[in-house]
Amino acid sequence: MSLAEQLAPDLIRIPSPNPPGDTQAIATHVSQLLHGWGFHVVEYYPPIKPRARSIVATLGRGEPGLLYHAHLDTVPIGVQEANRWSSDPYTPTWRDGRLYGKGSVDDKGPLAAMLAVAQHLTTQPQPLAGMFVLVAAAEEETGGQWGTRWLADQGYIPPVDFVVVGEQTANRVATAHKGILRATVQVYGRSVHATNPDRGVNAINAMARVILALEDYHRRLQGRVHALVGSPTCNIGIIQGGAATNVVADACEVRLDRRLLPGEDVAAAQRELSEVVAAVPLPTGARVEVGDFSVSNAFETNADTPFTQRFLAVTREVLGDDPGPVGYLPGSDAKHLTAIARQGMIVFGPGSYEVAHAADEYVDLAELAQTEAILWRFAEQTLLR
Ligand SMILES: [Zn+2]
Repeated sequence: MSLAEQLAPDLIRIPSPNPPGDTQAIATHVSQLLHGWGFHVVEYYPPIKPRARSIVATLGRGEPGLLYHAHLDTVPIGVQEANRWSSDPYTPTWRDGRLYGKGSVDDKGPLAAMLAVAQHLTTQPQPLAGMFVLVAAAEEETGGQWGTRWLADQGYIPPVDFVVVGEQTANRVATAHKGILRATVQVYGRSVHATNPDRGVNAINAMARVILALEDYHRRLQGRVHALVGSPTCNIGIIQGGAATNVVADACEVRLDRRLLPGEDVAAAQRELSEVVAAVPLPTGARVEVGDFSVSNAFETNADTPFTQRFLAVTREVLGDDPGPVGYLPGSDAKHLTAIARQGMIVFGPGSYEVAHAADEYVDLAELAQTEAILWRFAEQTLLR
């Protein structure tokens, strides 16, 4: 049995759903493990969210610096989802070579593999040639603002040469993911009694034209292709408008998600979106506004750096198969660590993100053992020379 497989069950047993994002209990457990193995461990929490505990643990000092990152929180269990679990989500359950439980693959399996490497490093006869950092972060599932981003902004995470962010890549080496530009589009009309709609301006009808223009915009975006992550997208996720069936609606709002390619200029994408909306021919008396922009950064690393090449080589050795580089479709905390990683960063871990946020979440134990072996060999080659 791999050490990761031995460590993962206790992590699953300590619930850490976000929201609410209380990671105190699991942070205490992880701190105690690392402290017991001889790491220097500090627990951090933002004053605005004192229950969102994150850990930065270090061993050794100087260069090279290697950082392994995983998150402590999980998504919550939805009402529908709860009925679909075959076993209790917080009771680790072994079946058919898999370990089932909430967070088993996202992100407690990857965290267990990283903890296993931490433990192995402390039992070596020679001292580390450099520094190993393990970050176990809160708040990833809600965007990382009060987790990894906050830790990085406060200077609590030391700069290192290479970062591995543990997420679900089927043990392939992901060197890029998309970013997100969120925006709200509002259309205003004029409300009158529904018995004579021509005297008013129907904001819902006007919004229909905006929606078709955005659908067309999404289609045009498919002409731009990034080798690893594909094309940008534009999706309307929410629509609201109108007050009653017998009233001409005077307002309608949609909220949308525009995925950004690595390297895409955020300001330019924002401008482009505003231009698409502004160009829609609206009925007289209607007006449209785009705003409430928020951005989640894309991430891309140069796969040619020596560290990334070494990680690819180690992965190829263990898998006996082509490890990539590949793209990772969801976002990750990697976007908050670009200023920390001097010579590259990858996203890497067992399983699929499609299994991650669903009932009967599991980690394949043979795959988890491979994750541990790859992370270990890479740490060994980097820090025990
Ligand atoms: Zn995750």
